Amino acid sequence: MYPEVEQYLAAVKAAEDKYEEAAKQAPRHDYDMSEDDCARCAFLNPIRAARDVATEAAMGQLAQASDPLVRWIAENCQSYPSAARTVLEALPASMAELNDLAADEGWCGTWEDFVRKAEYAGVLPSADAEVSA
Ligand SMILES: [Zn+2]
Repeated sequence: MYPEVEQYLAAVKAAEDKYEEAAKQAPRHDYDMSEDDCARCAFLNPIRAARDVATEAAMGQLAQASDPLVRWIAENCQSYPSAARTVLEALPASMAELNDLAADEGWCGTWEDFVRKAEYAGVLPSADAEVSA
C-alpha cells in the first residue's frame, strides 16, 4: 500500500472511531422530540460534523499523493467510497490485477465507467506492468 493511502485510511479510521466512541456514550434518541430538542442529536451532530470535516481533509491530503491514480481517485470517486477504498488499498497494481479485483468484487458497469474515465485522464497503470507493493 502507498504510504499516502495508509495515512488516509488511518485518518479516516481515527475520525470514525471518535464518532463511534461518542455514539456509545451519547444519550438515547428521543423520537418524540424534534432534532433540535433531542439530547442525542445535540450531542452527536457536532461530533458527526467534525468527523466529516476530518474525512474530507484526509481526502484533500490524498489528492496531493505522488501516484496519479491515487490523486485521481481522491478527486473523482467520492460517490463510491467503499469501492474507492478497495482500489486504493490494492495499489500499486497492474491493470490486470485491478481487473481481477473488480471481477472478484463483482463490479461491472461501474468498473467499466471508472476505467473509461481514468483511461481518458491518463492515470491507469499498464496492463501487465511489474509492480511491487
Ligand atoms: Zn435525536
